[in-house]
Amino acid sequence: MSFGLSSLPYELTALAPHMSAETLEIHHGRHHKSYVDTLNKLVEGKPEAGQDLETLIVSSEGAIFNNAAQIWNHDFFWKCMKPRGGGRPDGRLAEMMTEAFGSFDRFASEFSEAAVGQFGSGWAWLVLNKGKLAIRKTADADLPLRYDEQALLTIDVWEHAYYIDHRNLRPRYVKTFLGNLVNWDFALENLNRASQADRASRTDRWPQAAGSQLIA
Ligand code: MN
Repeated sequence: MSFGLSSLPYELTALAPHMSAETLEIHHGRHHKSYVDTLNKLVEGKPEAGQDLETLIVSSEGAIFNNAAQIWNHDFFWKCMKPRGGGRPDGRLAEMMTEAFGSFDRFASEFSEAAVGQFGSGWAWLVLNKGKLAIRKTADADLPLRYDEQALLTIDVWEHAYYIDHRNLRPRYVKTFLGNLVNWDFALENLNRASQADRASRTDRWPQAAGSQLIA
């Protein structure tokens, strides 16, 4: 096995009632696990089996890209939530949010609009783009790494993320995520790490794919 299934950073019951144990069990134990199993089958016996996940993501396309990116996205998404989450960010993240969006409420409204408005399966993101906060939405497995942006926060808006708890009501799921689940400590850690990275050595290598849109 080249790539592994990461453990959830909390117990299956830890996010209830906002995200049920059943949702986490199926989403992590079946969907996330199937991306790992599929990727391992796809790269078996190939040089890609020895690459780290991010290298594989930026150098692959098709099924290998889709499964590798979905592993990265889910590893990241689990950390974007915590028990008794929600509320507002502190410190530098709060300041940069006011700078970029005018206010936290304005951010929340634009992020929700991106998450609810992503047609079909995908993700909504808070990213660092050339030193500024921005919101992006991506289709299917697509992710900010392909646009030379640092992901700070994401929400999975594939139906499998919310159908058990909210049926087809994606807006209610997004509201619950921001109100009760979001882990701003993790987003702030990502911001601090991203700010320390050497931005000068990176270039805009990746064209914008159809279905992905940078907002604000
Ligand atoms: Mn998912």
